[in-house]
Amino acid sequence: MALTNRSVAIDRSPMTFVESLYLPSIFKGMGITFSHIFKKKPTINYPEQTRPFSPVFRGLHVLNRDEEGRENCTACGLCAVACPAEAITMEAAERLPGEENLYREEKYAAKYEINMLRCIFCGLCEEACPKDAIYLSETFAPANFARKGFIYGKDDLLIPNKNTEPEAYAKAKGLNQ
Ligand code: SF4
Ligand code: SF4
Repeated sequence: MALTNRSVAIDRSPMTFVESLYLPSIFKGMGITFSHIFKKKPTINYPEQTRPFSPVFRGLHVLNRDEEGRENCTACGLCAVACPAEAITMEAAERLPGEENLYREEKYAAKYEINMLRCIFCGLCEEACPKDAIYLSETFAPANFARKGFIYGKDDLLIPNKNTEPEAYAKAKGLNQ
């Protein structure tokens, strides 16, 4: 029994002499091809050209810094608890005297990892964070041939200091794409 009414019976009758020349079919196909030459191209020359992201796009994670360039994350673990894919792991450390210019809070993440193969880019980690420390930027997680290339460590996630590395900061935020 047919599930839809879209099925078409196949015509198995022998080809006529004209059909066996294939020329009508070739010209018909070429006509379709030429008709597309003058139409507006639906594709773009990526990566030279890019399309704007949707306002709700959620891309690669970024660990944020404050205005003074200090790390916001206090290693509270709320993002890891909120993550439905259990993609986030971290190790906390105490801030030492003299490190106030590096870490905003008394505790910080000595190690912070996200497994991008698990991540479903839901954004719940961003919503759970009380310190505005993690958000999903407007950049992609680049392709990779190895699984371990998708385990993003703190070095990969921490946003460059906008006071000392403005270009790298803009790139991480997706501002110049
Ligand atoms: S975006 Fe969702 S799945 Fe990915 S790390 Fe954050 S909470 Fe987990
Ligand atoms: S990113 Fe936010 S929620 Fe996650 S450990 Fe750091 S401060 Fe806590």
